[in-house]
Amino acid sequence: MRVDRIEVFVTDLPERLSRRSAGSGSDTGAPGDVMSKPILVKVFADGLVGYGQVRPTGRNHWLPDTSLSVVAAVRDYYGPQLLGADPSNLEALWADFDRTLPNNGPARAAIDFALHDLLGKAYGVPVHALLGGAARPAIPVEWSVSLADSVEEMVSASVRVIETHGITNFSLKAGGPGGWRHDVKTVGAVRAALGPDVTIGLDANMGWTVGETIRAINAMSDFDVSYVEQPIHKTDFVGLAAVRAGIGGVALIADEPVIGLHDVLNIIRMNAADAVCLKLTKIGGIRMARKMTTLIEAAHLQVNVGGAAVMSQLEAAAIAHYYASVPSPLMLDGAEFVFALAGVLADPLVPETDFRIGSDGHVAIPTGPGLGITVDDEAVAKHALISDVVSAAT
Ligand SMILES: [Mg+2]
Repeated sequence: MRVDRIEVFVTDLPERLSRRSAGSGSDTGAPGDVMSKPILVKVFADGLVGYGQVRPTGRNHWLPDTSLSVVAAVRDYYGPQLLGADPSNLEALWADFDRTLPNNGPARAAIDFALHDLLGKAYGVPVHALLGGAARPAIPVEWSVSLADSVEEMVSASVRVIETHGITNFSLKAGGPGGWRHDVKTVGAVRAALGPDVTIGLDANMGWTVGETIRAINAMSDFDVSYVEQPIHKTDFVGLAAVRAGIGGVALIADEPVIGLHDVLNIIRMNAADAVCLKLTKIGGIRMARKMTTLIEAAHLQVNVGGAAVMSQLEAAAIAHYYASVPSPLMLDGAEFVFALAGVLADPLVPETDFRIGSDGHVAIPTGPGLGITVDDEAVAKHALISDVVSAAT
């Protein structure tokens, strides 16, 4: 099998989703604005087409990638190397990519997802079968509650999620301008409103100091907080280790520092976390996630799946297949891709789908070949803001 054509698109989102977190946020932008719109990569080989899609980061986000930088990395760097290559040769391709243009997780992830989709279709199996199988038939999803102006808004948002979707895993954004004492009030109010049977974690997105984190988490000791995610700056591994020692056994998850394999190794060496948040788009896709997972397993840590794929069934499906391949307890309950599921937010490129949230807060893993998502190519053409074809290297 040889790759004979690669197309790359930026496609519009008719809906807009804005969410706030400490110091930054995410915003898909106004319809028609290229910033923060998803990137779609189509890889053709032997009459088959593999699809991969990622949502790039936009203004005010903590990652440096943009829609246009992802398109350029695929079109001008990785794509020309991939043309004519055997798509099953993932390790050799990745080694070439490392030499051509390092990092660039979102561009790598879009290609990685498309290649896994293509290979699954070629072999007639779902992507999770390429990864060792599905360790569970359905995935409990997590809802990330955006920062809001008042405690009451975050409480009512959480209550609405349980009533509407039956979700019982919550990640509350924290570390905002109200300070840690405000976060303590929010967590207490959400716990009182949701009762004892709901999992509540916090993501402070680097908004606290070491001391503030220890004080905040200890002040929340009556609220059964399951974890705190990346409370302090991403460069401070020593600080993370100090936090971990001071928060009385509440699990500490590292997120923002984790870009490459060596970041996971450093966290392990420095005893800096109990779990590692893997966002497939950030780290470069399924293949890198599996490598990181092996390191995490060997160190007796746990994996947390983040990502918040937005209105992208392809991206969420890629995360779902990976998630399914990691057994519990290595994988923490609660995968964060709910904003891409039918029944929550519609994906304009996938009008017909059964990849939807159930009433019990779970989603079934797609079972069709590849990622198991059927993209409507007419919808791609209709919503395309940018479309390009990769040319052979000169
Ligand atoms: Mg996070």
